Amino acid sequence: MTEKTLAIIKPDAVKKKVVGKIIQRIEDEGFEIRSMKMLHLTKEEAKGFYIVHKDKKFYNSLTDFMSSGEIVVMLLEQENAIAHWREVMGATDPALATPGTIRHGFGFSVERNAVHGSDGQATAEWEINYFFKE
Ligand code: UDP
Ligand code: MG
Repeated sequence: MTEKTLAIIKPDAVKKKVVGKIIQRIEDEGFEIRSMKMLHLTKEEAKGFYIVHKDKKFYNSLTDFMSSGEIVVMLLEQENAIAHWREVMGATDPALATPGTIRHGFGFSVERNAVHGSDGQATAEWEINYFFKE
């Protein structure tokens, strides 16, 4: 049984021109890219996507950042896709991420950490629906 997850290449990584490298890594890790688009979120769209974090101190800054430029949103599919993509991304704080992970390689700070990935089946379904509603 395969699983689906939502991946986002965040504005910091798009500005650094590492979109190609990140997509290559996704393919090298065996994920199927089922859908993909480039978007520039409004502040309101970024707030909606990160609504689970609405009470966190970092919510306003995070949603400013996520609406600051183009992002690439992808629907990935593979066996164990959710956990595998989080493993390839690395820890939220790039300074704590394992060498070889995307956040270790391309992240700049705990906020500007290059990529997003869903953290469980329910959130994956909700996040996929947020961007790829059919
Ligand atoms: N974030 C932040 N400050 C923090 C923790 C998180 O700016 O102290 C940002 C960061 O961009 C992170 C996102 O908020 O990727 C969502 O946080 P979460 O804890 O869900 O981390 P993730 O699931 O992305 O690893
Ligand atoms: Mg999260």
